[in-house]
Amino acid sequence: MLPRQPRVMAPTQRNGGSQPTRVPDSDRTTARRRFIQLLGSASLFAIAGCSNATSKTSKEQVSYQDHPEENQQCSNCQFYTPPENGGDAGTCTRVQGDIAPEAWCNVYAEG
Ligand code: SF4
Repeated sequence: MLPRQPRVMAPTQRNGGSQPTRVPDSDRTTARRRFIQLLGSASLFAIAGCSNATSKTSKEQVSYQDHPEENQQCSNCQFYTPPENGGDAGTCTRVQGDIAPEAWCNVYAEG
């Protein structure tokens, strides 16, 4: 690893404009700390955005009905998960709540 070089600022009026000015270590530490804080904030926004993208839709929004639509029904939809332990209703990766195997909605996709 190369030794760190002191950062210099462009000549300023403070020293007459003739000499570059060395940036104090405390300013670099503050800038680094601020950068890390911004990264943390950006990460939180990204996580919030992702979790929102995977949230489910309400049944009303997808015109959920408790009967099939022609030959389409939840039990043959790719988003459907059958009930476990002999239950009546399964779940859906797209729609909220219990999902009946013979139901249907307008997000149906053949599985
Ligand atoms: S997306 Fe619609 S049709 Fe498919 S399983 Fe979910 S509720 Fe049923």
